[in-house]
Amino acid sequence: MKIIMLGAPGAGKGTQAKKIAEKYGIPHISTGDIFRANIKNGTELGKKAKTYMDQGALVPDELVVDLVVDRVGQEDAKNGYVLDGFPRTIPQAEALDKALAAINDKVDYAINVEVPDENIINRMSGRRACVDCGGTYHIKYNPTKVEGVCDACGGKLILRDDDKPETVKNRLSVYHEQTQPLIDYYSKQGILKEVDGTVDMEEVFNAITAILG
Ligand code: AMP
Repeated sequence: MKIIMLGAPGAGKGTQAKKIAEKYGIPHISTGDIFRANIKNGTELGKKAKTYMDQGALVPDELVVDLVVDRVGQEDAKNGYVLDGFPRTIPQAEALDKALAAINDKVDYAINVEVPDENIINRMSGRRACVDCGGTYHIKYNPTKVEGVCDACGGKLILRDDDKPETVKNRLSVYHEQTQPLIDYYSKQGILKEVDGTVDMEEVFNAITAILG
């Protein structure tokens, strides 16, 4: 099962992607996580990506596409995967389709987690991320057992630079300009599924599993 998660930054698609990966036993591939790991490890890719990420801008397509095409070609991804944060532009979607078509493959579902902008800004200010494993939480909607401490690894939680209000506004306008057109793109392919992302996390997940079976 090959799944793409669509939705504005902060719509909760990362949380849902992790739950899908767990339930269906497929890898969760998050380009944001890959970039953050590269930044943490001080790689060349990380250095390049950081300048864009800190401003809420997209990393150029050429830095993302090969990385994803390579990742989905790995052994653990042969039975499927859930892509989170990719594609984010029409050229990225076209590049993925082309790479998959070359091996007689295709995306099965594009799931759009719908949340209006006003909810997003509210949500992002409460989001916290683990400095060690990248796990994300929300102080109100998805709190950790101990405040400020990651449930998964015990790492310290912070408000990511790219979740700060000014950056969030930028990310939203980038989303509307560059990523939202993908809804139409996958709708035309007949694989778009929409779920209401404003309801409780578990309810969103139920709606998704009802689609995936
Ligand atoms: P995310 O964790 O998915 O919200 O991604 C965080 C940031 O990483 C984004 O705001 C972009 O700067 C960058 N990024 C992640 N995925 C992509 C992508 N597919 N294309 C371009 N930039 C990306």
